[in-house]
Amino acid sequence: MCLDFVNTLDDRFTDQPKELLATYRDLARFAEDAGVLSNQQVDHLCAQGEKSPEPAQRALKSAIQMREAMSEVFYALANGRPVPKPALAILNHCVQQAAQHARLVPAPAHFAWQFDPAQDNLESPLWPIARSAAELLASDQLQYVHACASLTCEWLFLDESKNHRRRWCDMTKCGNRAKVQNFYQRKRKSED
Ligand SMILES: [Zn+2]
Repeated sequence: MCLDFVNTLDDRFTDQPKELLATYRDLARFAEDAGVLSNQQVDHLCAQGEKSPEPAQRALKSAIQMREAMSEVFYALANGRPVPKPALAILNHCVQQAAQHARLVPAPAHFAWQFDPAQDNLESPLWPIARSAAELLASDQLQYVHACASLTCEWLFLDESKNHRRRWCDMTKCGNRAKVQNFYQRKRKSED
């Protein structure tokens, strides 16, 4: 989820990045799509946000600040560069904020983390995203975080394939496009 969240600034490394989190509603919907907030919770939060636009704007600003910190951390790791300390400090702050609202609840096989009911806290969509980043950073899966090889994409993804040799965020989207390009380049060469 945290990688998808970083990807909400689409075309990040181009001259014209596309902001997919333009409003508080976009942020709440992201959490709903990721399965961490219910439809009712999101409706409730958006109604709250309309009633008190300033806290909603603040929450959106915090979310974007958190996203950009995550971006710096994960792209540095994916590219084998040192992680910038200021970005890690921001992310740690978000993780600590989230932890203040987290609790353990019994679940069938083991306990599960649950956050305070979203209700009226407009920052609640940020908590599970922060935890998702914390869990990924502390897991063995971290080595499989990559940036898509398509230069027009560069989305972050977690390579969960068996041989861990995936190069594209999405084979049908970026993978095929790259293959088609290669095909045409080869064809052109053979025709020269
Ligand atoms: Zn891609």
